[in-house]
Amino acid sequence: MKYLPIFVDIAQKPCLVVGGGDIAYRKIKLLLKANAQVHCVSRVFCGGIAQLAQHGTITITQKDFEVSDINAQALIVSATDDKVLNAEVSALAKAANILVNVVDSPDLCSFVIPSIVDRSPIVIAISSAGKAPVLARLIRAKLESTIPNAYGKLAELAGNFRTQVKAKFSNIENRRHFWEKVFSGVIAEKVFSGKIGEAKRDLQIQLDESTDNKMGEVYLVGGGPGDPDLLTFKALRLIQQADVILYDRLVSDEVMELVRRDAELIYVGKKRDNHSVPQGDINQLLVDLAKQGRRVCRLKGGDPFIFGRGGEEIETLAENSIMFQVVPGITAASGCSTYSGIPLTHRDYSQSCRFVTGHLKDGTMNLPWDELAVEQQTIVFYMALKGAQYLAQQLQAHGMRGDMPVALVEKGTTLNHKVHTTTLDKLPDLVANENIHAPTLIIVGEVVKLREKLNWFDT
Ligand code: SAH
Repeated sequence: MKYLPIFVDIAQKPCLVVGGGDIAYRKIKLLLKANAQVHCVSRVFCGGIAQLAQHGTITITQKDFEVSDINAQALIVSATDDKVLNAEVSALAKAANILVNVVDSPDLCSFVIPSIVDRSPIVIAISSAGKAPVLARLIRAKLESTIPNAYGKLAELAGNFRTQVKAKFSNIENRRHFWEKVFSGVIAEKVFSGKIGEAKRDLQIQLDESTDNKMGEVYLVGGGPGDPDLLTFKALRLIQQADVILYDRLVSDEVMELVRRDAELIYVGKKRDNHSVPQGDINQLLVDLAKQGRRVCRLKGGDPFIFGRGGEEIETLAENSIMFQVVPGITAASGCSTYSGIPLTHRDYSQSCRFVTGHLKDGTMNLPWDELAVEQQTIVFYMALKGAQYLAQQLQAHGMRGDMPVALVEKGTTLNHKVHTTTLDKLPDLVANENIHAPTLIIVGEVVKLREKLNWFDT
């Protein structure tokens, strides 16, 4: 992050604008929105600036800029078309530790003025650190069209109740839950439709009826295979409202970027053969956290109910009468095959598909090989990288042909997505010779061949 985003209180503070043209005028209007005390120095002034001065809204001096003009200023904007003068103003301001912005010259600035979405008291500032102002403006346009104007009114209403709500809830999380309910429920809807009086009354009722101690709940959320765009809306909403997130190594960094900034993050990852947190402890931790009144998100890679032990986790919750929700995610088989251009079924090549684990509870790979080693079927092996050699042997021993196409999808759908294709008889050599990293999914079946034509992602 090149600049620290902060909002500065400049109300009644002396702010100097050097330059009297249209751009200076725009900056002055912005400073006035924040109630700055603006003084403008220039040889000539545009009509807008002259008018503001006439009304006494700002003061102006018609003269060349002088060194002493910067004295006692809180902030300076230089908006002249004289590059030498702009540089001089910048150097003087920086030497005196006064915040300075030189229009269109990021190098001369000690602060930049962002693109702004104004729903006062809510203000959203967007900056590209001078790298792509047009992109920042596009983002602004998007936000302008998606954030209703009435958000400002909603924030005003909340401001009026802030002290009362603070007094009612001793616990900061209960306070947040209360506000989240207000902002996403009927009260907000009433504000958006202009019924401020009703909204105010309902808010008071809701506050009076709330209690300070609450039971928490658990969200068991499927985080998908890696690409954050593959999250569901519901997953995104819940990971952004949880107070605590329990996650493991299968959840991608990009997905973790989307969790609430101030959520507590607890890593409960398990490495194969190195169980860092035993499953029983995770189950119990979920119960304990919910009993403390917290909203807990158990975030898992892929889908929680597909080789994710999600069932065991919520079983303990159910036994303890903890409320929970489960959000399905895109499972590795679906994400990895799609991003590799391999349809799991195809009318000509495969009429069924099986998801199989290569790592059984007792550590063996005792699978119904006869049922697997058949034509016209796709088999997707999860957790089978270590057992690749064994599964290749077993499938062939049970009649599958050695030239059956196989794909290994490494870190599927992420920026490091990599696909290795081979045939069943050559699978052991491939795994032995290539440096393949977990997580890897193995797809066996005629459909793998379609990748030659259908690959669209890592071309
Ligand atoms: N619940 C998860 C699966 C957990 S089992 C899901 O629905 O996807 C863990 C196995 O999933 C890994 O050993 C690997 O075989 C597979 N896997 C998960 N994410 C993957 C990814 N991004 N790329 C390749 N394989 C993945």
